[in-house]
Amino acid sequence: MKKILIVTRTFGKYSQEPVEFLRKEGFEIIRSDTIDPDVLREADALIVGTNPLTAEMVENSSLKIIAKHGVGVDNIDLEAATKKGIPVTITAGANSLSVAELTIAFIFALSRGLVWAHNKLFLERRWEGTVGQEVSGKILGMVGFGSIGREVVKKAVCLGMNVLVYDPYVSKDSVRLLEATPVDDLEQLLKESDFVSLHVPLNESTKNMIGERELSLMKKSAFLINTSRGELVDEEALVKALKEGRIAGAALDVFSEEPPDTNSPLFECPNLITTAHIGAHTKEAIFRMNMMAAQSIVDFFKGRIPRYVVNKEVIRILKEKGYQEIS
Ligand code: NAD
Repeated sequence: MKKILIVTRTFGKYSQEPVEFLRKEGFEIIRSDTIDPDVLREADALIVGTNPLTAEMVENSSLKIIAKHGVGVDNIDLEAATKKGIPVTITAGANSLSVAELTIAFIFALSRGLVWAHNKLFLERRWEGTVGQEVSGKILGMVGFGSIGREVVKKAVCLGMNVLVYDPYVSKDSVRLLEATPVDDLEQLLKESDFVSLHVPLNESTKNMIGERELSLMKKSAFLINTSRGELVDEEALVKALKEGRIAGAALDVFSEEPPDTNSPLFECPNLITTAHIGAHTKEAIFRMNMMAAQSIVDFFKGRIPRYVVNKEVIRILKEKGYQEIS
């Protein structure tokens, strides 16, 4: 019986269907909150959320497939997996709507000072108004036009926002198709936008892509939203910009260290809204991620090349071994 180690708390939490599906397909399920290298030596497959999976863990494992429960694979040593011919799959698109909806919620929360207003009345019992601004007619600068970015753009356009997109890896026509305007450089986007929202993967070229210089290019009245990865933003520079009023505010769902240090100066910024990496945490997205991760493992052990393998080099190896493509 093949063993699957599942290291993500939300697998099967709101519906037993994904667990039953795997059991019916003949898998033994091992649950854990951490990746135990000893268990990895016995496991055939791994479903992993954000826990780090190091090269050493991969090298000493008996894993045949790794299914990321999500899309950002920065916690997985892809090189080590590729070297061993282990496919790494993602649940592409499964949480895009949820992250996009959170982004829109942040846009409204920032523009109307919702969290501040709630705290005044609910926590302090003080009847104080805020003067916000409408989002209609404002400029939203989208950094990244992938699965999540596109969902945000669709919603923002419906809200009457003018959307700029910076993504050098997509065609300008695909941006215009969603009634947004492509821009050639990040600098222009930062200078012109009322809201800047990040939707790029974390890698060597995107790490700290928003630092002191970039923040200084933004309007004093502008807001920064990060629902992607904490390391995209230089947090020290962000704290400085927020405290000095060089930008109007920010919303972060993600942090360079998670959970962040509760003494972090970030929590001294009244113009900052924070959530605990909840972008993909809706029942719908969790169910879709559960089922997609489970399906990729079932497909693999039935001799099929799973959908959404990110280390493409492995696909060639699988084909040579006789794995079939899914039509
Ligand atoms: P995606 O791969 O579909 O899209 C990423 C886009 O970024 C691509 O279009 C790519 O061309 C673009 N890009 C890459 N480098 C860039 C650069 N330097 N400048 C501009 N654009 C660049 O990914 P997605 O599904 O849209 O997810 C985006 C990110 O969101 C993920 O990598 C992940 O880190 C994060 N995420 C967070 C949560 C959460 O819970 N908060 C949930 C899911 C995903």
